[in-house]
Order: sequence, then C-alpha cells, then structure tokens
Amino acid sequence: MGDDPASRVYVNNKKKACADLGIYSEEYALPAETTEEELLDLIKTLNKKNDISGVLVQLPLPKHINEKTVLDTIDPKKDVDAFHPVNVGKIMVGDFDFVPCTPAGVMELIKESGIDVAGKDCVVVGRSNIVGKPQAMLLLHKNGTVTICHSKTADLAEKTRKADILVAAVGIPNFIKGDMIKPGAVVIDVGINRVAEKKLVGDVDFEEAEKVAGAITPVPGGVGPMTIAMLMRNTLKAAELNNTKGEK
Ligand code: NDP
Repeated sequence: MGDDPASRVYVNNKKKACADLGIYSEEYALPAETTEEELLDLIKTLNKKNDISGVLVQLPLPKHINEKTVLDTIDPKKDVDAFHPVNVGKIMVGDFDFVPCTPAGVMELIKESGIDVAGKDCVVVGRSNIVGKPQAMLLLHKNGTVTICHSKTADLAEKTRKADILVAAVGIPNFIKGDMIKPGAVVIDVGINRVAEKKLVGDVDFEEAEKVAGAITPVPGGVGPMTIAMLMRNTLKAAELNNTKGEK
C-alpha cells in the first residue's frame, strides 16, 4: 500500500523470485488512501481463494492502517511471512510450519556454512518482532546460549565481544565496529541501510569487521537474498498445508 520506494524494490524481487521458480503470483498495489476496511476485505477474499496458497502484506503500511489488525486477518495457514500471532506462538514453542523469512535465512546461512550453533554464545542486537525476537528463538532452538540486546542495553560492546555468533538487526549504518567483535566470530549483518542514492550498507562496519571476524555476510548480497529464498520455501509449505496448487 502506498508508494514506499524500498517496498517497491522488495515486492519486485519477490515477484521475480516467484516467476523464476514457476510460482504463480498476484500483486495488489493499493493506493495510499485505501481504507483499512477495503484492505481487510481483500485479505479475506484471498484467504478464501483456493488457488492462492500464501498471502503477504508488504510493510510498512500507511499510518491510518492498523498493522496488527491487518496481520491478524491473514489466515495463519497462508501466512507466509509468519507474522500472525498463531505462527509467532508456534515459533516460541518450537513447533512451527512457517518461520519468519529473515531469521530463517540467517539460520540457513549458518547451517550451510557448517557452523554448529549448539553451545555457542549468540548475541542478537535488535528485538523487533520481525527479526530480533524470532532470530533469538531460532538460535535457542538450535541450543545456542542467546543474549538479546537493544537500545537500552548497558555496555553493548561488552556483550557483543562475547559473541561466537553475532547477528546485527539494528537499522543503523555501520553500527557494529571492529572492536565490538570477538576475533574469529561469525558475524551476520541483517541491516539494509540506504546511505546514498545507490549505496546500501549494513549495520556492521564491514571493512573493520572482516579483519576480526571468522566469517561475515556482506550487504548487499548476504541475508537479503536469503530472506526471499525463505519466503519461497514458506510459500511451498503453504501450498502443501492448504493442498492448493498455486496455479491458475
Ligand atoms: P526495528 O527498527 O524494528 O528494530 C531495531 C532494533 O534495534 C530495535 O530493537 C532497537 O531497540 C535496536 N536498536 C536501535 N538502536 C540501538 C542501539 N543504539 N543499540 C542497540 N540496539 C539498538 O528494525 P528491524 O528489526 O525491522 O530491522 C533491522 C534492520 O534489518 C534494518 O536495517 C532493516 O532494514 C533490516 N532488515 C533487513 C531484512 C533483510 O531481508 N535483510 C528484513 C528486515 C529488516 P529498541 O527495541 O530498544 O528500540
């Protein structure tokens, strides 16, 4: 909804990933003045459509729309972003169908790199519902010892320097400096910050961090593409759950 330029890029990337994989997709680009009722009606219609397996609402939404009401309206079985409270709760208990795409992408990167989380000190900087909190739960499910940091954390650097696995999801360009990182640590940068017309940087100061870290993800090109891959995986799962084919 509306004309957020970053949202436009994200939606285009998601549509392209669907097209590349042969997943049928529909886009509803609603004008900013659409009412909440109209948006909710559309979601309810899509919830009922048998040929649609997954529904996502690209955030952020305009201010007159209650984000929580919107996310609560998506059928939990079609909730491919895993933001519905039912799916959030399932993640907490460790019995889930959908995992939020960004934290899931981080876990996949860790797994595919042959890194075992069990017993490691994991520090997540950021506690948003979309990234930080579910990220911490997923690391905990893999038997990491997890610390969640946020804007009120006292002596942040002291915490981050203890991390064997450090996940930065802060939204501040180059926030994590080299001296905040334990030598040899795995550093995963979720941040996507536009600092100039065509320049994206992460939440980690890559130049400094790569000299200290044992492994590190770049921005762009690290967690971002994984997020979309995980969305596709959730969509496939949704098709299985709903017994829909996702095709016309
Ligand atoms: P939010 O703004 O919702 O959350 C940011 C978190 O960082 C908050 O918990 C906040 O703490 C914490 N924080 C802010 N300042 C500090 C500080 N000085 N010290 C410690 N913690 C701090 O952001 P998101 O979680 O939605 O996103 C984080 C970043 O990840 C952004 O750059 C976003 O663009 C990117 N992102 C990337 C995705 C991808 O696909 N790669 C997907 C989603 C997001 P508090 O709670 O106390 O305010």
